[in-house]
Amino acid sequence: MNKLPAKLEKEQFLEKDEFKWLLENNTPELRADLSNRAKRVAGEIFGNGVYVRGLIEFSNYCKNDCYYCGIRCGNEQAHRYRLSEQEILDCCAIGYDLGFRTFVLQGGEDPDFSDEMMIKLIGKIRSDYDDCAITLSLGERPRAVYEAFFTAGANRYLLRHETASAEHYRKLHPRELRLENRKECLTHLKEIGFQVGTGFMVGSPHQTVENLVADLLFTKELNPQMIGIGPFIPHQHTPYKDAKAGTLEETLLLISILRLMLPKALIPATTALGTIDPNGREAGILAGANVVMPNLSPVSVRKDYSLYDNKICTGDEAAECRVCLSNRMKGIGYEILTHRGDYPKD
Ligand code: SF4
Repeated sequence: MNKLPAKLEKEQFLEKDEFKWLLENNTPELRADLSNRAKRVAGEIFGNGVYVRGLIEFSNYCKNDCYYCGIRCGNEQAHRYRLSEQEILDCCAIGYDLGFRTFVLQGGEDPDFSDEMMIKLIGKIRSDYDDCAITLSLGERPRAVYEAFFTAGANRYLLRHETASAEHYRKLHPRELRLENRKECLTHLKEIGFQVGTGFMVGSPHQTVENLVADLLFTKELNPQMIGIGPFIPHQHTPYKDAKAGTLEETLLLISILRLMLPKALIPATTALGTIDPNGREAGILAGANVVMPNLSPVSVRKDYSLYDNKICTGDEAAECRVCLSNRMKGIGYEILTHRGDYPKD
């Protein structure tokens, strides 16, 4: 049986060797110990509340060719779609009526959805819903574009670094995509004033324990307001179609470590977690996560936003997803909160 060494009892896992020890000693006992600690820390800040975000996946066109992603430009079998401005605004209206006060606009890096269109859309949502947060997840852009998004009214930006090791990054992405660029984007976003989210895949192809340690150290250094991690799940039309998926156990351990490392962070129990295990999202909350992100996209396009195989919740209307998640959270003693759920102030 593994117990935390005395050195780690202080619950500040900040050193390389400490992270490595935790990842190499991932037993059910260690996970139970860490998740109890993480749950207590999250409870002191967020009580039994879980924040909810309405996810709008508005375009699955992408100019990039990340080797693990189902909507990469090289996947000729993907059925592409792009929502119109009105369709996106309709999603917001449905979401607002259901109690959502954060809209997450997510898409591939779609050159035909221009920066000007996006700025106009952000401005429209900002003026229609001044009590809501607008989160963007639109990939890498020039600093001036990020600034224009922020000025138009966006508040938060999600940009997972995916892996903090340049060598590992090379194995997951084509040459034109560079880890340095991605890190620079994260720095720009922070400087501009966005609440910033980063994160990484757990169990991605060629990943080592050292890579995950680098991810934790990078996350600690960046000190983001949001951290999204989920297990890697292969997609049938990618070069990594036969790679093994990441595990629930490793993802849960990492959620607990991240909660203890950055107590106030907004950490979602991701759809990918719910895809590899029917109770994955509940397990994520019990390991220290405090956010869920049900889908507000029209059901007609849900299946097409397929980053990985067998994604759950592709057939349910937004209202059904909302009720389902609310019941799931109640089932483990938690309650969905309907306010904006910003990063806690000091
Ligand atoms: S991971 Fe993101 S940037 Fe890469 S291909 Fe997929 S949608 Fe595009």
